[in-house]
Amino acid sequence: MYNREFFIVDLFFGLMSTQQKIYDYLIVGQGLAGSTLAYTLLQHNQKVFVIDNENKNNSSRVAAGIINPIVFKRLTLSWKVNTLLPFAHHFYQEIEKRQNVKLLHNRIIYRIFTNEDEYNFWQQQCNEPHLIDYLSEPKKGDFNKNFQTSFGYGKVLQAGFLDTNTYLDTVKKLLIAQNAFRNDDFQSGALSIAQNHITYKGIKAKKIVFCQGWQDAENPFFKSLNIFKLTKGEVLSVQPNNAIRFNEEVSKNIFFLKHITDYKLGATYEWKELNTCPTEKAKNELLEKFYKFSNFKVTINKHQAQIRPTVRDRRPVIGFLANNPKIGIFNGLGTKGVMIAPWLAHQFALAEINNIPAEKEISLKRFEK
Ligand SMILES: Cc1cc2nc3c(=O)[nH]c(=O)nc-3n(C[C@H](O)[C@H](O)[C@H](O)COP(=O)(O)OP(=O)(O)OC[C@H]3O[C@@H](n4cnc5c(N)ncnc54)[C@H](O)[C@@H]3O)c2cc1C
Repeated sequence: MYNREFFIVDLFFGLMSTQQKIYDYLIVGQGLAGSTLAYTLLQHNQKVFVIDNENKNNSSRVAAGIINPIVFKRLTLSWKVNTLLPFAHHFYQEIEKRQNVKLLHNRIIYRIFTNEDEYNFWQQQCNEPHLIDYLSEPKKGDFNKNFQTSFGYGKVLQAGFLDTNTYLDTVKKLLIAQNAFRNDDFQSGALSIAQNHITYKGIKAKKIVFCQGWQDAENPFFKSLNIFKLTKGEVLSVQPNNAIRFNEEVSKNIFFLKHITDYKLGATYEWKELNTCPTEKAKNELLEKFYKFSNFKVTINKHQAQIRPTVRDRRPVIGFLANNPKIGIFNGLGTKGVMIAPWLAHQFALAEINNIPAEKEISLKRFEK
């Protein structure tokens, strides 16, 4: 695993610092997962160092960053939403305050019904005690003349989006200011694992945590555990061809969202062709669905594709390998990474610092025989 070439690199970096620092955690990947974990561990006074290959098109940067407390398919609450949502708000708002940046943007989601049954089901569900804070009464008629609502619509409250690009840039700036970030393409061959620490190109840490998003599916330490069932997604950044005066989100099979400088139209779900290439097929699918409920045309500014780190049992995954306890993972943020990441990082910190084990549902243990 550890050859002479990397020994020399190690030696070089080691000599560069007169007194070599031992970090608590070396984190690989600075998407939503790595950023949130690093920030949380710093809050717990842990020493972290982050490596990222600065792929400007990672899943977290392509994502619209939507926070939606509802699963539309069955009109149920999203997993653990009553815990995750306040946790996420508090976490991002604290960074907003401390760093003087705007990260969270509130949006009402206007859910357009496709038939009478959907209207009736919404009517029945919106007064259920667990949904009452998230769903409005359904309505007939238009909420905006630019959208067709033949069967009416309902509003989802407490929704919005995270400006993921500003978030990642903010965390990266903080890490750089602490000399705790390096642009590097991690190669497992350069990692050496000793009894009490790991070393990677001159960085010494007690443990290493992989936050490589979908690329952890190919990570030699985790590949055999068969954790992931990845999902490709494509999204368009668009500009309406005429002024539409709409600053919220519309949902009908796909979403149309007023974002920072333009609108986002997405997203697709593809389980077979897992690559990061934008396709004509996905673009046409999104536009076709969009023109079924909109009264205006759009111009495409950008078309992006990425892979969501979705897990076989649809739950995130954290923990360290039983047979290699210096090697850990923080991943599986899936389709709702923005909402899940802050709470999950807190669970990671509780397990590591306070010895409170993570629930089995989110623990790496469930994949280990
Ligand atoms: C089209 C689309 C739309 C989405 N919309 C939403 C949404 O609206 N709301 C929501 O909550 N979630 C959404 N998601 C899901 C969300 O993007 C993910 O849950 C989340 O971003 C995953 O974050 P991550 O940090 O695990 O992965 P990533 O964002 O992929 O980050 C992994 C990082 O690791 C780095 N890396 C990988 N390998 C190496 C290496 N060898 N060396 C160094 N660095 C490495 C990568 O460059 C990257 O920076 C969407 C996803 C897609 C694809």
